[in-house]
Amino acid sequence: MPELPEVEIVCRGMVDAVIGKDIKSVVVNRYDLRVPIPQDFGQSITGKAIKNLERRGKYIIMHLGDNIFAILHLGMSGRIRIFRAGDTYEPRKHDHIVITMNDGTLFAYEDPRRFGMFYLSSENWRDKKPFSVMGAEPLESEWTADDLLAALGRKKSPIKTALLDQRVVAGLGNIYVCEALFRSKISPERLSNTISKDEAVRIVKHSKEILLESIESGGSTLKDYQHTDGSLGYFQHGFAVYNQEGEDCTNQGCSAQISRIVQGGRSTFYCASCQK
Ligand SMILES: [Zn+2]
Repeated sequence: MPELPEVEIVCRGMVDAVIGKDIKSVVVNRYDLRVPIPQDFGQSITGKAIKNLERRGKYIIMHLGDNIFAILHLGMSGRIRIFRAGDTYEPRKHDHIVITMNDGTLFAYEDPRRFGMFYLSSENWRDKKPFSVMGAEPLESEWTADDLLAALGRKKSPIKTALLDQRVVAGLGNIYVCEALFRSKISPERLSNTISKDEAVRIVKHSKEILLESIESGGSTLKDYQHTDGSLGYFQHGFAVYNQEGEDCTNQGCSAQISRIVQGGRSTFYCASCQK
């Protein structure tokens, strides 16, 4: 599943390839995604310019002018492949939407599991769900320890579960919550209402740090994407605890192994010795 850093890389790659260009043609190969693609999707956006692109949580919002916004979520398995003018586009089985720009640049939205979303919204998209109830952007300076503490409030849910709640913070994701709690030395089972100011400072600091490191490492894929298959959105990570069950803890002086538990239906990986 693409996490926030991957969505950020997709967004940057698209900014680079399509901003300021007009949509020349739209081909919809499948309409039956999790949220069905409207029948007039292609007609509604053909001829429009892509004026701007932004990421909010794990969503990419394309500003098309005339108060039309195309909102993209990559779901579990979605990806965007970009082909510059002159590149050969080789269609794939799960390319559900293919959009060609006036200069010949083309991007395909591929999604084998079809859990993604691509839909149109009006200028008030920020006032609609999920955006209207979304918490702070983790990479923005507005996300501070005080903001986190306020969002946690008197929640009695485990801190791990609370950090996955989009209303607490937008799009942090399972992997990064596990990693941030490990670096913060805070147990995923701690109740949210017991998190101190100092601990909130650590969670915010390490979350930002890990996301930025991941974006940095994924950024290298940006340079290469034209030369491979045009794919954006997936890259290799090295994680300290995520998917590391049974491996030795990487903290110096710790001889424990990484544990796995299930919280809210999601796997949590942590060091029971280092995280209190
Ligand atoms: Zn440890």
